[in-house]
Amino acid sequence: MMYIAGVDIGGTNIKTGIVGLDGRVLKKSSIRTGVERPWEAVADDIAREVRSLADKLSVPLAQLKGVGVGCPGSINSETGCVDYANNIGWEGVPLSKGLSDRLGLSVRLCNDANAAALGEATFGAGRQYRDVVFITLGTGVGGGVIIGGKLFEGNESKGTELGHTVIQRGGELCTCGRRGCLEAYASATALIRDTKVAMRKNKDSLMWKAAPTLNDVSGRTAFDCAKEGDPAAKRVVDEYLEALGEGLCDFINIFRPEAIILGGGVCAQGDALLTPLRVFTKNFSYGGEHGPAVELLIATLGNDAGLIGAASLLL
Ligand SMILES: [Zn+2]
Repeated sequence: MMYIAGVDIGGTNIKTGIVGLDGRVLKKSSIRTGVERPWEAVADDIAREVRSLADKLSVPLAQLKGVGVGCPGSINSETGCVDYANNIGWEGVPLSKGLSDRLGLSVRLCNDANAAALGEATFGAGRQYRDVVFITLGTGVGGGVIIGGKLFEGNESKGTELGHTVIQRGGELCTCGRRGCLEAYASATALIRDTKVAMRKNKDSLMWKAAPTLNDVSGRTAFDCAKEGDPAAKRVVDEYLEALGEGLCDFINIFRPEAIILGGGVCAQGDALLTPLRVFTKNFSYGGEHGPAVELLIATLGNDAGLIGAASLLL
C-alpha cells in the first residue's frame, strides 16, 4: 500500500496528514506555525510530524509516494520555492528542498488556495467533474481553477486571482488597490461591512436582536434575519447574492466549467446561497437556459481540503 503525506501551512497552524491514494485522511495532526522562527525550524517540525504520523500508522517512509505542501503566498511550484508569503514572513524559502533533505522523499509545493481547490475537485464535491472552478468565501475571496482534472497554475505558477476581478467599475476599494473587485462585495468581510451599514440605517431591524452591538455582527447575521423576514436583512442578502452571482457568471463565461464549488465560512448557508445563485447563473451566464448547465455545489472536505489537495499533487 502506498500513501502520501499532505501538509497545509497556515499563518497560525500547520496541519499534517497521512492520506490514502483514495483521498482519505488516515491520521492527522495540527501544530503551531510559530512564524517568528527561522523557516528551517518550521521545516524540522513538519518533517517530525510526517515521521511521527507515519510511525503511528506503522507505515515506513518508503511507503510514502512523497509530501505535498500547500503554503500561503506567492509560490513557484517549478522550483519548490516560497517566493514571498507575507503572513508567515517568508521570502525566497527553498521549502521543497528543505523538506526533501530532511525526509528523503519527493516534495511538491503549491499555493494553499490552489491546494484546497485541487482537493475539492479531486476528492470532494467536484470528484465526478474534470473542469471545476473553486471559490472560497472567507476573509477574502480566493479560489482555484481545475481544467481537464489538472490545476491551472498559470505564469510562474502564480495561479488565478478570482476574487480580484471587477464586478463594479469604480466601486468599493479592494485590498489589492483596485476598485470594485468581487472580493470587496462577496467576501465575509464585505458581508459583515454591509450588514453593519444596513443596521445603522435601520434601527428597528431584527438584526439588532441577533447582534446587540455592531461588534457582534457576523457573516450569519443578515442571512439569519432574512430567513425571519426582516426586510433590511433581506436587502443585504439579496445584494450579496447578486454580487456573487455576477462573479460566478463571469467565471462560467471564461472557463465554462462543469461545476463551481463554493467553500469558506459563508457556505454554511447552504441552500440559502445555492438556490438563488442557481437561478441567477442560469439567467445570466452566456447561453442561459440553453446551457450547458453548471452545477453549483458546496465544498465537502471542510478544513481538510488543503491537506488532501496538497497530497493529491503527488498523484
Ligand atoms: Zn481586488
